[in-house]
Amino acid sequence: MTASSKKTEKYGGFEQGPIRPPSEAQSLLIRITRNCPWNRCTFCPVYKGEVFSLRPVDHVIADIDVVSHHVEALRRMSDASGRISQADMNAYHLQAAALDRPAFFAAANWFANGMASIFLQDANSLIINPEELLRILRHLTACFPWVRRITSYARSHTIARISDDFLTAFRMAGLNRIHIGLESGSDEVLKQVKKGADKKTHILAGQKVKNAGIELSEYVMPGLGGKALSRVHALETADALNKINPDFIRIRTLAIPSHVALHEDYTAGRFEKLTDAETAEELLLFLETLNGITSAIKSDHILNLFEEVEGNYPVDKARMTSVVRQFLALDPQRRLLYQVGRRLGLLSRLSDLNNPGLTGQVDEICRQNGITPKNADDVIADLMKRFI
Ligand code: SF4
Repeated sequence: MTASSKKTEKYGGFEQGPIRPPSEAQSLLIRITRNCPWNRCTFCPVYKGEVFSLRPVDHVIADIDVVSHHVEALRRMSDASGRISQADMNAYHLQAAALDRPAFFAAANWFANGMASIFLQDANSLIINPEELLRILRHLTACFPWVRRITSYARSHTIARISDDFLTAFRMAGLNRIHIGLESGSDEVLKQVKKGADKKTHILAGQKVKNAGIELSEYVMPGLGGKALSRVHALETADALNKINPDFIRIRTLAIPSHVALHEDYTAGRFEKLTDAETAEELLLFLETLNGITSAIKSDHILNLFEEVEGNYPVDKARMTSVVRQFLALDPQRRLLYQVGRRLGLLSRLSDLNNPGLTGQVDEICRQNGITPKNADDVIADLMKRFI
């Protein structure tokens, strides 16, 4: 969108984008851009076919104002413990529809969740004019002074080009956490999946965020290099993170739904997907190579085989690697039960294999559907597509 078309766009009411990180489930979502300005990563299913645009900053301010109006009304209606009677809520809901119903639902949901955090949408909010971002941040903190966290996704390529002074100003204006999709530290992998950032840029961007005093969350994607680049992917990703020392390393295992570009390479045999056991081996090498950092590992997605690979470096490193080692040491039938049980949400930890009630259910499902150690990875790849 050009500056002039941005100016002439008519306000269409409160907007929300399609996604936010799992850790922002309770946040108020404020959309300051639409879709992804890059939109070329071959593994990414989001925003495909959608055009990127900047929202006029006055429209973002209008969104914030209407949410603020509802929040103030909800606060006035609530009793000392923050509760609102159903009758009051129903009456207000009818009246709120005239103002902006989506904003009312966003405000009511946020109010019910404690109003502690705000997430700026969509994929790369830091791409907007820095002065405009500061205006939005200052308006948010003026309207909601009690908020503890304001967060955004951002691309390394964008952050690397923002001055340190502006990054510090963002932090002072309230932006205190940034999520970056690092995915890999290997230049070969990054080029292959068209990430639009190389290892050097990822490291520079990560270090700039940390130096500005902003919390940093880096997403990594086990399996992204396929069989050919698995080892270099693990080693280079760990090496990049060792140089950044982010606050959080979030694991998001590769899945290949049929509507992403990588699916074509996969079906044509140009990309060989890892089995669960190979992904576990890659993850083990990655975890072992992480060194000298104080990051927290998070595994907050069902795509990941190990929910319990969570903890803080360096104290929990041995426990986390031992989980993966234990899985790799399982006999084929027990490994199958864990793989299938985990993806069905029946098992969450390896120790659940000692629960005959749970393993009995998984065993029965495998028997009824003909799932065996030989075909398990194909069945699971199908299941994982549904989690995206
Ligand atoms: S930058 Fe992020 S949102 Fe954009 S295409 Fe890549 S992974 Fe998807």
